Amino acid sequence: MTQNKAGWNFDNSYKQLPEVFYAETEPTPVDDPELVVFNESLAEELGLEIKEKANVFSGNHVPEGAAPIAQAYAGHQFGHFTMLGDGRAVLLGEHIPSSGERYDIQLKGSGLTPFSRGGDGRATLGPMLREYIISEAMHGLGIPTNRSLAVVNTGESVLRETELPGAILTRVAHSHLRIGTFEYAAKWGTIEDRRDLADYTIQRHYPEIEEDENKYLSLFEKVIEQQASLIAKWQLVGFIHGVMNTDNMTISGETIDYGPCAFMDEYDRKTVFSSIDTQGRYAYLNQPPIGQWNLARFAEALLPFFHENQEQAVELAQEAHAKFDKLYHSHWLEGMRSKLGLLNKEAQDEPLIEDLLEIMEKNNADYTNTFRALTMDQPEKTGMQHVTAFANWYEQWKNRVARQEESEKAPYERMKVSNPAVIPRNHRVEEAIDAAVDKGDYGVAKRLVHVLTDPYAYSYEQEEYAKLPEQRERPYRTYCGT
Ligand code: AMP
Ligand code: MG
Ligand code: MG
Repeated sequence: MTQNKAGWNFDNSYKQLPEVFYAETEPTPVDDPELVVFNESLAEELGLEIKEKANVFSGNHVPEGAAPIAQAYAGHQFGHFTMLGDGRAVLLGEHIPSSGERYDIQLKGSGLTPFSRGGDGRATLGPMLREYIISEAMHGLGIPTNRSLAVVNTGESVLRETELPGAILTRVAHSHLRIGTFEYAAKWGTIEDRRDLADYTIQRHYPEIEEDENKYLSLFEKVIEQQASLIAKWQLVGFIHGVMNTDNMTISGETIDYGPCAFMDEYDRKTVFSSIDTQGRYAYLNQPPIGQWNLARFAEALLPFFHENQEQAVELAQEAHAKFDKLYHSHWLEGMRSKLGLLNKEAQDEPLIEDLLEIMEKNNADYTNTFRALTMDQPEKTGMQHVTAFANWYEQWKNRVARQEESEKAPYERMKVSNPAVIPRNHRVEEAIDAAVDKGDYGVAKRLVHVLTDPYAYSYEQEEYAKLPEQRERPYRTYCGT
């Protein structure tokens, strides 16, 4: 480990894995880097005090102690298995601040790697800014996610359908281990490689299971738990990931890869934003079952370690895998209870919740603002005050809340920490990106990020950001992050 002046303290444990798992790769220097946004509070958490930010976060200057690599992985993309790997990202190394926690520091958009295939290894400003805004919003919402430390404009143009400004995003994650990393090991590594990867993962993320009798099965169960909890949190805020391929699903349980993701405005379970998701595979309502499907791919890669008898291994895997449903559902139900200020449990809670969702769906109610209105005790702001079904539901809910022993304020206090007043609304994200790309104005994005750091503040300045898009801005489509 080497601690240097800027505060970096790199330790590159991934390089102790067998060589099949990575390729040593330097970031490709860029012409004229300019800092677009920088996350001061995250830098502080990481103990970093960096002077030449544009140089460091463009990859032009690799900090002392870093040992850049591109990671190898595979994955099921829209159901089809394929080889992938970091085609446009390098992991500078793992930084360990004084807290002792280990963080991957990754540059995304940093040039060609051995895994670039037909791509150019580069990224453009719009999508990188989008990832910065949304990942930081997710963090503000209290949802496990990789963080964003910086976006740099490279000063080079990148050819897509037109020429666009190039950019590099610095991602900070507890690791970039994915289900796809295990699928890669299963397909192209030896059985020893695969076991090394599993052991490494346990040590890095779940050291508490190290002594378990069947630690590989415990690993599978841990990831099931983390993902069930994570996906429930997505559902509760109306977040649609958009590209839940197995390579975009982490072992740590953090959200990664903000490509075509978006938050829904009006509640519709079938919502799909991604322009490439023509079948709706990754629609809002499909996220839990897709998560479970992805976890089955994880189990397949771990199968030889569950039991020496393959039939019994499969049985163990299936038994564990089946727990996802129940876990997900209990996280979701608990979350929904919180959103409605229900502090205890009653048998009729679930139908009460489902009724509301159905009424919202029928009336095209805004997902976030409906719960916000209930939280503020302003039912008229749901826009459904004249809908009989809603009025009936509201009365029923009020009675249910009143039946609790807690003080009158307690349910609303719970609601306030469970229902964001603001989310990164698509029209606001677009506005921030357009200002940056078209005018070089980064202030709009910075203000948006600032408002989203505490979405539960219910502050005056958030009012403006809670407003709905104009009709002309719908329906919204996202394009895969390039
Ligand atoms: P994603 O859709 O972001 O999960 O990326 C899927 C795969 O495509 C990953 O292996 C990426 O590294 C790769 N990829 C995406 N864009 C590029 C690019 N411009 N150049 C090289 N590889 C890319
Ligand atoms: Mg990806
Ligand atoms: Mg509708």
